[in-house]
Amino acid sequence: MENQNQNQNNNMNIRKKSHRRDGGNIFIIIFAALFVALIVRSFTGTMTAPQLLPDGTSAPAPVELTFSDILNRADEIKTMDVRGNDASGTLTDGTPYTATITYDPEMLGKIAENGATISLDASKTWVDYLGTWVPILMGLFFIWWIFRGFRGGASGLTRSLAQQNPTKITTGKPKTTFKDVAGIDSEKQELMEIVDFLRDGKKFRDVGARVPRGILLSGEPGTGKTLLARAIAGEANVPFFAASGSDFSGIIVGLGVAKIKEIFDMAKRNAPCILFIDEIDAIGQRRSTASYNDQDREQTLNQLLIEMDGFSNDTGIIVIGATNRADMLDPALLRPGRFDRQVYIELPDLAGRREILDLYAKKVKVSDDVNLQDLARGTTGFSGADLENLLNEAALHAVRNGRKEITSVDVEEARDKILMGPRKVRKMRPEDIKLTAYHEAGHAFVSIMYADITDPIHKATIIPRGRALGMVQHLPIDDKVSMTIAEVRANLAISLAGRASEEVFFGADKITTGAESDIAMATRLARYSITTAGLSEKVGLAAIKQVNNFGTRSALENASEKTAELVDAEVKAWLDAAHADATKLLSKNKETVRKLAEELLARETLTGDEIRAIVNGKNAAKKAPKKSTAKKVKKHAAK
Ligand code: ADP
Ligand code: ZN
Repeated sequence: MENQNQNQNNNMNIRKKSHRRDGGNIFIIIFAALFVALIVRSFTGTMTAPQLLPDGTSAPAPVELTFSDILNRADEIKTMDVRGNDASGTLTDGTPYTATITYDPEMLGKIAENGATISLDASKTWVDYLGTWVPILMGLFFIWWIFRGFRGGASGLTRSLAQQNPTKITTGKPKTTFKDVAGIDSEKQELMEIVDFLRDGKKFRDVGARVPRGILLSGEPGTGKTLLARAIAGEANVPFFAASGSDFSGIIVGLGVAKIKEIFDMAKRNAPCILFIDEIDAIGQRRSTASYNDQDREQTLNQLLIEMDGFSNDTGIIVIGATNRADMLDPALLRPGRFDRQVYIELPDLAGRREILDLYAKKVKVSDDVNLQDLARGTTGFSGADLENLLNEAALHAVRNGRKEITSVDVEEARDKILMGPRKVRKMRPEDIKLTAYHEAGHAFVSIMYADITDPIHKATIIPRGRALGMVQHLPIDDKVSMTIAEVRANLAISLAGRASEEVFFGADKITTGAESDIAMATRLARYSITTAGLSEKVGLAAIKQVNNFGTRSALENASEKTAELVDAEVKAWLDAAHADATKLLSKNKETVRKLAEELLARETLTGDEIRAIVNGKNAAKKAPKKSTAKKVKKHAAK
């Protein structure tokens, strides 16, 4: 039971992009740790566990040999077990011996040459130290290598990791041109200069013009920032490199720095070109706390700044950053020579939406009965991506229903699905359906009564969708920026007409909770008009509700208790007046409203034209004239 105004949809949930790749980095860490562990194990393994043991012949007390004896009798030695400077073993005749030796590989080689079995128990030799320390040192070196980037350098492993784990760099000369971008002409115009520069940088340099380096495109998701960046490259016929800011943050410190270097290197080799960094807020966030992660991000941001500062005037690289949170960016990013040019891309206005719809309608088969202008009117708050998606949904719906082209039915279905959620298959009791029909008929009828000052009615339906049991939609003629007080009053009456109709036809004891969202919307509108827009004579021109930095204060915080009471009373008075207004209109025209409701029950959905025909066709009800409304409003306000 929504009395839904399309203007209220600006804060639709819009998809959010995210391509974090931390998973990959974790693998690298694990891999590195395993690798280190393996090295350590294999070294200590061979060194501390001698595989060649002296045969344990129990023999008489060993003879004591000097070092020179060993050297001289090398050919007599059968086994030798070396522990540090001590050697022991047996001679070829079986005599055990011990000796103190100076470690000398040449000597050992000589003995081994004669067929002796030499066993090195490394635990006491320098080999031991080698065995223990080499793996540790190598491990430390390895870790140092990985974390080198931490101190700003990013060569060695970090770099090769960056290469193995490359930023999703999209390259190539895009075929996209400005023709593929619709509805944002002024932005295109602004960016045309960049295209000129990329095409003929010399012209700019000859004049001594400071050429742009970085452009920041900001705007809601889906407004075409990526598309526009590609189109610039396409227009200028230069390569396009794209990466996302979220690719630069990860577990391995220094990887971001390495990746920044990598993409800038690539860009430099391919200049002139466009280097596009989406979601730049992921690296360019205002520097704040000194947490581990922030430190890494700061390194990455610094590297980005260094790279951009390092451009000479003729580098020919244009860096385009995109964000929907320009307010969160570190001011350092926005300084001259960096992203010093900001282009804000707004959600498309009515004309823009029409252009975008026209563009995409050319790519699908659209039946003649689809009115794209109406569709543009009914999609306030939609981004370019949403509009493209809408036509795509409509095409899918058409195919599912065996149609060869998109009809207005498909478009309506797609739009309602995006706005309100999919149709609900909800078992409703017949009496509930009947009540819903009369409720919606009430909204519809009062809408027609105020047709001259409010948005024309688009349709009424009793098909449940999302949380709504039914709804009446209006289509604004144009994107609205303000309302007259008469319009506010009329809208209040239209909103409360659903409940009023329940009362008129079923009695005050049969009213339902179905008017919940109508009442919420009406209260919001009345309160806004009174506390913010200064439309109430009683309360006056004071802004009672003010935005504050903390967002915690209540709406009436900067009002005295007396004013707060006055506001509450005014809100109630406005709502009561609107309700009375609607009730009066409905009870005077019961037959017409009944007809509307019965038609709704029979057909579930009525278009605006059908509703107008029913209301105006049969014993044309008296319209609420503009003058009397205005008078009523005045009178009421003066009460
Ligand atoms: P953003 O980068 O701002 O999030 P995208 O450029 O990725 O938005 O837009 C997503 C898609 O939506 C585009 O590829 C394009 O198909 C469509 N789109 C968005 N804005 C427009 C526009 N102004 N004109 C034509 N298509 C658009
Ligand atoms: Zn309602």
